[in-house]
Formats: sequence, C-alpha cells, structure tokens
Amino acid sequence: MTDAMTGSTRPPATSVRRWQVPGRVNLIGEHLDYNGGPSVPFAIDRFVTLKARRRDDDAVNVWSTLPGTTSAERASFTTGVTSGEVSGWAAYVAGTVWSLREAGHDVPGVDLVLESDLPSGAGLSSSAALTVGTACALEDLAGLGLDRTAVALLAQRAENDYVGAPTGVMDQLAVAHGRAGHAVRTDPSTSPPGVEVVPFAVAESGLVVLVVDTGVHHAHAGGGYADRRRESEQAAAELGLDHLAKAGPDAVLRLEDETLKARTRHVITETARVRAAVRALGDGEWKQLGTILTASHESLRDDYAVSCAELDVTVEAALEAGALGARMTGGGFGGSVIALVPRDRLDAVTALVRERFEALGWERPAAFPVVPADGARLTD
Ligand code: ADP
Ligand code: MG
Repeated sequence: MTDAMTGSTRPPATSVRRWQVPGRVNLIGEHLDYNGGPSVPFAIDRFVTLKARRRDDDAVNVWSTLPGTTSAERASFTTGVTSGEVSGWAAYVAGTVWSLREAGHDVPGVDLVLESDLPSGAGLSSSAALTVGTACALEDLAGLGLDRTAVALLAQRAENDYVGAPTGVMDQLAVAHGRAGHAVRTDPSTSPPGVEVVPFAVAESGLVVLVVDTGVHHAHAGGGYADRRRESEQAAAELGLDHLAKAGPDAVLRLEDETLKARTRHVITETARVRAAVRALGDGEWKQLGTILTASHESLRDDYAVSCAELDVTVEAALEAGALGARMTGGGFGGSVIALVPRDRLDAVTALVRERFEALGWERPAAFPVVPADGARLTD
C-alpha cells in the first residue's frame, strides 16, 4: 500500500498527530519584548496545521503548500542538521530541530505536513506558528515533557540563532499559551518569562478586532527591525541599563542623540500604555482601550519610526469610519493593522480602507475579523 503522506511503501511507524497552531496579533506593547518590557498579544483563529509522524530513522521531511501558492514544496534534512545548512521557509523547521538538539534533547526523525490559512509575512507571526508548532510536535513525539514556556523559548532560539531573525519571545509565548476569549500578558523581564492570561471579552461587548493586512510584507532577518534593536541596546547602554524598559522618566533628558531619545520615549510611553490597557481590559473600558491603541500607533510612527504609509492610511481610515482605536501590530515596516470596531461599523471601516487604497493606486488589502483563540493544541 502506498502511503498518501510520504509516497513511501513502508507502513507508518506511528499514528499521525495533528496540531493546530495559531498566529497572533499584538494588542499592545510593541517592540517591547526584546527591551525587557511587557506586551499583551492574543492568539487568533488563523492557523498553521501540522500533521506529524515519528520515523524510525533520522530523516526530517517537510511538505508545505506555502501561503498564497497552490503547489506543495518539500524539504528534507536530518535531525543532525547544522547551522546554515537549510535556508528559506524550511529553515524555521530545521532551526527548531537544531534548537531542541542544542538544548540536549533527543529528537526523532519525523514526517511533517503543513497547511495554513495564516498569511505569512503579514505581521501575524506565521514564523512563530511554524517554530512553536514544530517544537510542540517533536516534544510530543519524543515525550520530552517540556512546558509551554520552554517550548516557546526553544522556538525563539530557532528564529534568532538559526533563521537569523532577532525577535523577542512575545510571539512564541502568545502562540504557545493563547486561550480562547483571552489575551496573554507577557513579561520577559523575569526568567523564565512571565505569562498571564487575561479575559478579553471583545465579542460580548459588541466589538470586533479587525485585521487589515496591507499586503506590504516585511522580512525580519536584517533591515529595520534589527536596526531598532541595535538602537535600543545603544540607548540602554548609554543609560547604564541592561534593558531599555527599565528606563525611568528622566531617561530621555539624559540622552544626547535625538534618535535615541525618540526610541527611548516610545519604550517608556508604550510600557505605560500596556499598564493602562490591562486596566481598561479588566474594566471593560473599550473606548479607553481604543484611545490607547491609537496612541500606540502614533508613538510607533513618530518615535520608533517603524510604520509606513500603508499602515498610517489604514489607521486613519479606520478611525474616520468609526473604529474606537487602531494601530499597526507586529514588527512594522508593512504587515497588518488591528482596529477595535463596533460591530455595526465593520463594513464601513473595511470599505473606507479599501477606498483609500484604491485612490492611492495600492492593491486591495485583505481585511478579516479575528477572535482570541487557543494556543497550539493537539486536535487528534
Ligand atoms: P510573519 O511571522 O509575520 O508571518 P516572518 O517573515 O517572520 O513573518 O515569517 C514568514 C516566513 O515564515 C515565510 O517567509 C516562510 O518562510 C515561513 N512560513 C510561514 N508560513 C509558512 C508555511 N505555511 N509553510 C512554510 N513556511 C512558512
Ligand atoms: Mg515572524
């Protein structure tokens, strides 16, 4: 009998385990994780699905129909995969195998089939879905007994040290720890990082979180994200701090350089906005939350300088059409906007954003509501 998953005639070694792994949007606390500051992301109902089956040799075979394409691609390597050996999309999987092994874990060979309805490169963390999903699948097949935070840290190492994308740990924690109806407050200043789920009763309040994927896609490996990270480290060093999120209110005055002052101002004000947003969430003060989201966007645009015209136009149109608040989410330089929208304004917001894009000659952006969803979970 031919095996539908691998094309091999060998009978399956073990049963197929199916994982559903969400993307995330960050509600508030942007560019804070690597600065040692808190954020409040939530897992969304857009997923990468991984089917995983243990092999009895050391081969790792991965099939994926990449988002936006129809043909499946295959990558093959071994559990002994070395740094630099695998590039492109499969590096996220290879990097996770590498990261587990570097941490001293025995990793079995595996066949992995990926499917996804999570846009990639859109600031919704398909990369974390891929690395956390692979880590969960391998952890499960090998029976390693790792908790979700440990999985998230291994996934982060894959992205940082194998792929070369210097992300913090917020995305991986959100994807690993998400809970339906909740957001995930993360605190990377402790070891291991702190994680707390907080109720996010958005649907019950007649509101919708709308995602607009501008279609401008970033790449985190290199470029502006790495520059911001370097600038933050430089500002922290000049202030004598190990992390910029520890900066006190006088920090901006103590710096000379205008760029470093602006980056520091964002980190200080965004950290305060996270605290205010958590209070607003707890009190169901949605208008207040909206105002905080919009202020976050302005800070990311003006002080941290990670926005772009498409993100700014989306935020402005969303607010004009009745959103309570809107901001870019994720690393920036493209990607997606989230808008907090009363249900009866949803069509108006989507229509006005698309009208503005059309008038500017830009491609029609994808827009879809999301709800807070569960983190990575075994579905069968
Ligand atoms: P984001 O995390 O915001 O989606 P990144 O640039 O960090 O953006 O990660 C996107 C990359 O992740 C893609 O370029 C691709 O290499 C990989 N990727 C995402 N989804 C898939 C998938 N379903 N199959 C294979 N690779 C994927
Ligand atoms: Mg990513």
